[in-house]
Amino acid sequence: MPLTARSRRKRSTRIVVTLLSGLLPIVLGSAILYMQAERTLEQSAAQTAEQALRQFELMLDNTAEAARILLPLAGKDCEEVKLALREQVTRRPFVRSTNLVWENNLYCSSLFGQFKEAVNAGDYHEGKLWLMNGNPVTPDTALLIYRLSDGPGGALTTLDGYHLSNILRLIGRQTLLMLQVGDNWLTADGQVHQGPLPALPVAHSVLESARYGFSVSAGYHEGETWRYMAAEYPPLFSLLIFFGAVSGAIGHFVQKRSTSPSHEMLRALEAGEFIAYFQPVVHADTKRWSGAEVLMRWNHPKEGLVRPDLFIPFAEHSGLIVPMTRSLMQQTAVLLGPQTATFDKPFHIGINITASHCQDLELVEDCRDLLAAFEPGSVELVLELTERELIEPNDITLQLFEQLHALGVKIAIDDFGTGHSSLGYLRTFNVDFLKIDQSFVAMIGIDALSRHILDSIIELSAKLDLGIVAEGVETQAQADYLTKHNVKFLQGYLYGKPMPAADFIDTLSQH
Ligand code: C2E
Ligand code: CA
Ligand code: CA
Repeated sequence: MPLTARSRRKRSTRIVVTLLSGLLPIVLGSAILYMQAERTLEQSAAQTAEQALRQFELMLDNTAEAARILLPLAGKDCEEVKLALREQVTRRPFVRSTNLVWENNLYCSSLFGQFKEAVNAGDYHEGKLWLMNGNPVTPDTALLIYRLSDGPGGALTTLDGYHLSNILRLIGRQTLLMLQVGDNWLTADGQVHQGPLPALPVAHSVLESARYGFSVSAGYHEGETWRYMAAEYPPLFSLLIFFGAVSGAIGHFVQKRSTSPSHEMLRALEAGEFIAYFQPVVHADTKRWSGAEVLMRWNHPKEGLVRPDLFIPFAEHSGLIVPMTRSLMQQTAVLLGPQTATFDKPFHIGINITASHCQDLELVEDCRDLLAAFEPGSVELVLELTERELIEPNDITLQLFEQLHALGVKIAIDDFGTGHSSLGYLRTFNVDFLKIDQSFVAMIGIDALSRHILDSIIELSAKLDLGIVAEGVETQAQADYLTKHNVKFLQGYLYGKPMPAADFIDTLSQH
């Protein structure tokens, strides 16, 4: 159906809307997946940090236990206690060395026995833990020293950094993990760094130990969220693309459907698709062409030539019938104006007008313009008003018909016999012609009642001194009957179908 097939909206706008409706689910879906990936990474970082924290606490428990056992030995002679020191190193898996302190001096070590080195409590975070890069014995191996003191005596137990970085590596895997003690922090490569902890760009989570003075940091490198999505979500992305395609198709379809008939017709009007066809009307006696009825056709780019009864009702409804009729009158002026010489004068030009059009005084101007295209007196313009829609007499319509009359425009009642016009109606609007509806003509020789009505119409028109035109004359018998009964004008396929202007002008010049 031509009225739903095309949009007036620009093609580019339609493409943009289609693309947007296709992209919307993809963009929204991707945003949701991104947030989901961020949450998953945050949970995973928090869990990893938690596990590492538990492990470190277990190791420190073990190390602290050794210090607790050794503390009562502080102050005793080193030779006496060094075996006890070594026993703790041997027994405990993470303890690398044990040492005793007396009055801020490390005086006995599991490694060297008797020893002498100053101990500064300020080196230890909260006086308890010191994360260092190594000691003179193993300069490049990180160490975590646990300090327990009681008065002048103290015990230092050291935890091998190798075990610590192992935990960071094994538990961390995809996650960046760091162990922080005071200002120092250890990374999975076993290096101890100083200064503030670097902020991890994605899903940074920090957990502090409730029992020891350290914290664990977990997080991910820049861009990890996208990498995670690319690795984990390909099936979901395929689904999003599928939804995007479906939504784009729906967007496209809805746009096509939402095109209203009036939009489509306005487009057609601007594109000049409504064109004039002409059907001859002949003198019943001589069969010479007395004029023509102008009939509208829609030359649709896809549907081809469309019949007026399929689109005129839409045009009336939307008010477009007024500019469409104006366009038809302008075409008639341009096409037939130059043919004046070939006319039997006065040549009748019939234009169909809807009742709604009669509420518009501009119709007078349109008629004036049409008449101006012909030599004065060479044509008689006839406005055909269908009897099925009667015109309400009011200030505007009465004024309109008065002005039309003054201009010399004639009025015909179309499809006469199918409606309810009264004698008063015919007088009010100064009617000049009756066009007998083709249904009565078709019944000539077939149906007695129809013929009876036909006879009455002919009789009435003679009494009222109205011109009479018979429509739909298809057979010679119909023509003969009508002529014998004094019908002056005949129109129908017998004399010519509605035709394009070029054919009409061609045939007219041969007459
Ligand atoms: P209408 O005003 O009664 O026009 C006569 C219709 O009868 C035309 O149909 C014409 O092709 C058809 N016709 C003519 N001779 C014969 C015949 O011998 N046999 C048969 N079977 N039909 C014949 P068309 O052109 O399809 O127009 C249909 C209706 O659409 C018109 O009826 C008129 O009411 C309306 N229409 C056409 N053009 C316009 C227009 O420009 N403005 C308005 N408002 N209505 C129009
Ligand atoms: Ca007509
Ligand atoms: Ca008619």
